[in-house]
Amino acid sequence: MFRRSFPMILAFVCAILPAGNARAQAPAAQPDLTMLAGEAQGWLADLIRINTTNPPGNELAAAKYVAGILQKEGIPNEVLEVAPGRGVVVGRLQAGPLPDAANALLLDAHLDVVGVDASKWTVDPFAAVVRDGFLYGRGSIDDKGMLAANLATIVALKRSAARLGRDVIFLATADEEQIGAASIKFVIEKYWDKIACAYAINEGGRVLVKDGKVQYIGIQASEKVPYNITVTATGASGHASVPRPDNPVVHLAAAIAKLGTYQAPAQPNTVTRRFFEQLAKVEDDEIGKWMRALEQPERSDLAAKHLSEQSPVWNSMLRDTIAPTMLLAGVRQNVVPSEATANLNIRLLPGHSIDELILQFGKIVNDPQIRFQLAPDSGENAPPSNLDSAFYKSIERVSAQEFPGAITLPLLGTGATDSAQLRLHKVQAYGLVPFPLTEADDLRWHGDDERIPLDSFRKGVAFLYHIVSDFASAK
Ligand SMILES: [Zn+2]
Repeated sequence: MFRRSFPMILAFVCAILPAGNARAQAPAAQPDLTMLAGEAQGWLADLIRINTTNPPGNELAAAKYVAGILQKEGIPNEVLEVAPGRGVVVGRLQAGPLPDAANALLLDAHLDVVGVDASKWTVDPFAAVVRDGFLYGRGSIDDKGMLAANLATIVALKRSAARLGRDVIFLATADEEQIGAASIKFVIEKYWDKIACAYAINEGGRVLVKDGKVQYIGIQASEKVPYNITVTATGASGHASVPRPDNPVVHLAAAIAKLGTYQAPAQPNTVTRRFFEQLAKVEDDEIGKWMRALEQPERSDLAAKHLSEQSPVWNSMLRDTIAPTMLLAGVRQNVVPSEATANLNIRLLPGHSIDELILQFGKIVNDPQIRFQLAPDSGENAPPSNLDSAFYKSIERVSAQEFPGAITLPLLGTGATDSAQLRLHKVQAYGLVPFPLTEADDLRWHGDDERIPLDSFRKGVAFLYHIVSDFASAK
């Protein structure tokens, strides 16, 4: 159930309007961003009310809703039904008479959301309740907030008849939370020509509020690569009253204890070096000193140790990590099983080799009863986006204007996003959820009572519009 703010025009392949229309209409009018943010809040509320919990996703209804808005605004668009009940939306404003992928900017966000435990929420997670200045609902931050901001941005460009210097493509994807058969990977494989671009902005980065003001604008330029490894211990089964030294439960437990406490070496890369170098400017003196010490060969190991102890996120940004997540063994209390297994969730720094890490595991565990098997669901080992690209510099410039006094820095994402798939296609993709949020707000990501502060939402809509307008307007 959702409020129908706009006529629903449910064309699967909507009319392609004359391209390049923006160029003929000048000068561009400044859009009313206050009014626009108000409209975008209505779209966000409507999108929250369309339940796209994945699985199963059912993103098609949300895709049609979004397409209806694009259609009403005269923005050429298509809904692509990528699987039964699952849709993605592509919209486009062209700078010239023909699409120009070599310069195009893609605005990416996903339609699906993770599940809820409704009993833990203080409001209905799909009712878009506004309370005390917050809009509550699953997806309010991840990622329907950004979806609404992307929509507002392309609508503002169209309404203001902005002269574009590059194509702006809007994409609302499906199946991001499960990275399954209907995800952006499928869209890229089957419909690359519809979304081909050189630059992209997506979720992943953040605008961090600390002590009441924006401390930094973090632009996600790279991300760690997820893998799962099954660890299996084998031995003879038998009666528990006569234990033997080859009990697989004992061998598995010993192996997991070694791997779970193993610390891979800290290896700062281009992105994390710049991250700590910038963050050192605003952190307190002691922490800033250790951040700078990362660059001093004789002190870098000690510096990495201090920083890792200070923050689990910094620890994960500095090294490959191993998290044992599941254990499975035994069928009866008095039976020694012949097999025991565990799952290790691994996050590798981009460019690192999982095969080399597995070889290393063999040496650490040093037990012939243990074997390792890589699960087939690994992530994508994508190259980082360039920290000196025109788009990165544009985001830096607009950030300084919007948030004077705050710093801008690149982030290495510890989680996975659609951006890795885009980077594999040579797209300079950057993650930036544009809403100023505190750590406490951020902790509600995928959590109970997910909510977005409405003033942050409005600020984020304007911020994103200014970033895109700065980069995509004709100079
Ligand atoms: Zn997300």
